[in-house]
Amino acid sequence: MKNYGPIDDFTVFELYPDVQITHDNVEHYRALAEKQLVINRCQDCGHWIYPHRPLCPECWSWNVKPEEISGLGTVFMFTLLYQLRDPQSMIHEPVNVAAVELVEQKGLRYLARIVNCDPQDIVHDMPVRLTWIEQGNLEWPAFEPFVGGRG
Ligand SMILES: [Zn+2]
Repeated sequence: MKNYGPIDDFTVFELYPDVQITHDNVEHYRALAEKQLVINRCQDCGHWIYPHRPLCPECWSWNVKPEEISGLGTVFMFTLLYQLRDPQSMIHEPVNVAAVELVEQKGLRYLARIVNCDPQDIVHDMPVRLTWIEQGNLEWPAFEPFVGGRG
């Protein structure tokens, strides 16, 4: 991971050329570049808002700011992707993509890969925690099994 120093908007655009960076998600990606996972949260009622929107769907407040999440959650659902890829790609198939329900709020689900685990071992409701994987010279959030998490 390179040290990018203070990350301005322009740098965020450069780091994530495949992502449509908007006013609503720029803080999310700026934080990713600093290896932090932040999600927008209503400052009036505390509701977490993801996918990112500028308006709280619960209380209609525009007072929405990004906050760091704990990184703990459970696998809500997952799928295995098989895709034709560049043979030079370091990504091994199948690629799993999971919707991880974060402990912060029921229904708050973040899409990411599950790592450090055989695909066959991924099960619904499995406790996981945030980790980071390097891909394309960037660190991306992923989740790994977390024994002793909850329950
Ligand atoms: Zn609200």
